[in-house]
Amino acid sequence: MAGMDTRFRELSRNVAIPRPWKLGSYIDAVAEFRGRPITLHPVDTVDLAGAGCGTGSGLWIAKQDSDVIVYGADTTEWHAEHIVAHELGHMLLGHGPDRADGGATGHTLAAVTELLPSISPESIRHVLGRTDYGSSRERDAETFADLVMLQALRPRRDSLLHTTFFRDRRR
Ligand SMILES: [Zn+2]
Repeated sequence: MAGMDTRFRELSRNVAIPRPWKLGSYIDAVAEFRGRPITLHPVDTVDLAGAGCGTGSGLWIAKQDSDVIVYGADTTEWHAEHIVAHELGHMLLGHGPDRADGGATGHTLAAVTELLPSISPESIRHVLGRTDYGSSRERDAETFADLVMLQALRPRRDSLLHTTFFRDRRR
């Protein structure tokens, strides 16, 4: 499997990182690329009750025709955006549910139903939380988020830095 730097470059050709950076525009671009609307749902991290993935602060809810990203918003803007980028990474890297039975695990579904009473449990196809990804997928999504946020923070004159960054990471 290609390294994350290669995959990231491929993905950013399909879904360009907005310049200047704007999370909303990036989400729109990912949604358009996948053909499914994405909405954000900020919560207090503690309400996720450990169901979230990554640092425990993000959850991807796949509904029939759209996706919801639940994220702990009680943090810095940078960190909140990093959490969202991590979940977008799972989507773009194809980390969707691949178990035949699919569906949310009881614990996670219960947490979500409590968190988001506006979403009917029947409309939820999958909830992808902490127990749904192997550690390598978690690492890849985290690296993806790092790379997105690095691009986001980077000044325009960047091609040289970009090259240097990847070269340094290979050592
Ligand atoms: Zn994750």
